[in-house]
Amino acid sequence: MHNQLLTPEVILLSPTALAPPTLPATPRHADGTLVDRYGRHVTYLRLSITDRCDFRCRYCMAEEMTFLPRAQVLTLEECLRIANAFVDLGVTKVRVTGGEPLVRHNAIWLLEQLARLPGLLELVMTTNGSQLDRFAPALRDAGVKRINISLDTLRADRFREITRVGDLSKVLRGLDAAQAAGFQRLKINTVMMRGSNDDELIDLVEFVVGRGIDIAFIEEMPLGDIGHARQVFGSEEALVRLQTRFVLLPSTETTGGPARYWRIPDTSTRVGFISPHSHNFCASCNRVRITARGELYPCLGNNHAVALLPLLRAHRTDDAPLRAAIVRSMGIKAQAHDFSNQMDAPQVVRFMSMTGG
Ligand code: SAM
Ligand code: SF4
Repeated sequence: MHNQLLTPEVILLSPTALAPPTLPATPRHADGTLVDRYGRHVTYLRLSITDRCDFRCRYCMAEEMTFLPRAQVLTLEECLRIANAFVDLGVTKVRVTGGEPLVRHNAIWLLEQLARLPGLLELVMTTNGSQLDRFAPALRDAGVKRINISLDTLRADRFREITRVGDLSKVLRGLDAAQAAGFQRLKINTVMMRGSNDDELIDLVEFVVGRGIDIAFIEEMPLGDIGHARQVFGSEEALVRLQTRFVLLPSTETTGGPARYWRIPDTSTRVGFISPHSHNFCASCNRVRITARGELYPCLGNNHAVALLPLLRAHRTDDAPLRAAIVRSMGIKAQAHDFSNQMDAPQVVRFMSMTGG
């Protein structure tokens, strides 16, 4: 049985020992925002509000999972305190993720509170879509602007095989509900797997063009030891394959992350490629992640983290220590991630469902 508590290579620095002695102290930037040792401004927080999920995607989780005891998971109020501190420090975009964020009880309450934070310009979410048929209008009303929905295949049997338990028709109903609710943009996230769904790339693009939404193809990342033989299908190869069917015009749009976008003329669709392997995006990285148990990971592809939960619980009414720890965490943001093309052994032992995608 795989246990998410067993992450032996995670280095948890105590909040009072955040800056290793060899590093220069990283003061808060003069304008009050977060800047790391390499001059990168952090403006984007990805907040995982649960490690639990109703799917067991093969690239993300083991079949048998032991989830965290509730006491070790951030309460929704603690999620809000953390997000509030980041927004105070200049973060303008928050993505709520998981695990599956919509299986967290009262997730809508948290989203409503987040949407009200002064200074937060973009509140967005990543979901597997399984609960969207119920929650899409409430999410829209809460103030969520855009949603990413994970969908790796349009074939029901294959969907079940990849997610182990998921029902494609329910996700498609969720997508319908999200389109009807009128979000600013919807995007499909597709993890490309050689020999599994690489024959559907063109079908998936036809599908999103037909619906007037976007798609991002993701290269699989080596996160978590889940006994899954990873067969990376790279963005370059995907692009060549799509160009046999579509005209793709390069777009200059960027979110500061590993995605590069293309447009299809005469459609509203953008096609993105998220390429942690083949594209080095680290120089423009603007994001940090919070896990469901309150660890701050300045880099997805690196094991350095700061445990915020003890700090939150030791100072229940004073956010100053939390803010100070966040500022000091800029001192451990890695210059570049540790991924390599060697996919046999996971370099990062966390599960994606812990850190949030
Ligand atoms: N449960 C939600 C979902 O599936 O959209 C949100 C969390 S999930 C961890 C976020 C994203 O990470 C999904 O788009 C998923 O496909 C992606 N993901 C999970 N494991 C991955 C891996 N090993 N490599 C690349 N992407 C991965
Ligand atoms: Fe759940 Fe998302 Fe991971 Fe799939 S990718 S198992 S839906 S957290």
